[in-house]
Amino acid sequence: MKIMVTGGTGYIGSHTAIELIQAGHEVEILDNLFNSKESVLDKIAEIAGTRPVFYNCDLLDYAKVLEIFQNGKYDVVLHFAGLKAVGESVEQPVRYYENNITGTVNLLKAMQETGVSKIIFSSSATVYGDAGAILSEDSETGHGITNPYGQTKFMIEQILRDICVADSTFSATVLRYFNPVGNHPSGLIGEDPNGRPNNLMPIVMKVATGEIPELSIFGNDYPTEDGTCKRDYIHVVDLAKGHLAALEHMKPGFVPYNLGTGKATSVIEMVKAFEEAAGRPLPHKFAERRAGDLPELCANPAKAEKELGWKAEFTVADAMRDTLKFLGKE
Ligand code: NAD
Ligand code: UDP
Repeated sequence: MKIMVTGGTGYIGSHTAIELIQAGHEVEILDNLFNSKESVLDKIAEIAGTRPVFYNCDLLDYAKVLEIFQNGKYDVVLHFAGLKAVGESVEQPVRYYENNITGTVNLLKAMQETGVSKIIFSSSATVYGDAGAILSEDSETGHGITNPYGQTKFMIEQILRDICVADSTFSATVLRYFNPVGNHPSGLIGEDPNGRPNNLMPIVMKVATGEIPELSIFGNDYPTEDGTCKRDYIHVVDLAKGHLAALEHMKPGFVPYNLGTGKATSVIEMVKAFEEAAGRPLPHKFAERRAGDLPELCANPAKAEKELGWKAEFTVADAMRDTLKFLGKE
């Protein structure tokens, strides 16, 4: 298939592009390089053997997006492009709504104009808001979302639902990621955000390289075994393979899947896993709780296993090993 990957030079998009190319698909990438680097394309080529055609394009530039789609004749779109910093989205809601919502609407318009009726969308466990600790696809979405970033994911899901109502041939597969970690085992690509990171693993990586002096663990008085929050950390290569499985099983309609492991790990357990892999301590301290954090979030991944034949294979220890390799510190 000929596949347009928006946000394909980013963290998850680049790992997915590799799996797609290795499975024999033709991949083209559109990205404005806001949070990624063009050099990733050479790494993809090194790992997968083909350098994807690349368009340096902002989804907000509708005329350019339409032109790319008119020339591209894509079978399907994998839509990763978006802004993703939760805290920043609280400070800059208009920017987040414009980039993520308007960008997606432009993409959908270009797809409609050029007869592309299949999309796989990067959603997030954040759409479940405060629905509970263990989440299935039929858990409630949209209630208790605490930030504009999460709202954009929920709103885009709604837009996709509405398109599927209006057009019974349209396929919208929505992948709700839990917490992506790790990187390609080659060590050639990995999470490399521009600017100061917010998520746990990119911060752990910067502590490991000395760029940040220590990790602040947000809260140690949560109702969990060791008092720190628990999340379902999924290796990014498993996540990438989940996209391939979803692509192979696409069907008309709005179809959500959780991509997670079904196992929750605490922040302290993550620190220990890193220390074990690195063979040295990771400087850390306990700090105040971060606003909006829930004690525990974990996927029920049964639907993806049953319908897509996919399940996560890698462990947190694998993710730590690969992270160290990416850092050149194995
Ligand atoms: P990333 O920032 O590494 O990749 C996103 C890419 O989109 C970047 O390369 C960025 O330059 C590009 N982009 C942003 N706005 C754009 C625009 N207007 N036009 C063109 N390109 C644009 O992020 P990621 O971690 O790879 O996440 C990919 C997707 O998965 C995002 O939609 C994100 O919200 C979602 N997601 C990520 C996580 C996570 O923890 N990493 C969890 C759940 C969902
Ligand atoms: N976390 C932390 N210190 C940090 C960053 C994150 O203790 O500097 C914790 C955070 O409270 C949460 C977990 O790590 O419990 C994962 O946070 P992240 O922002 O990576 O993902 P989230 O689950 O919030 O989307």
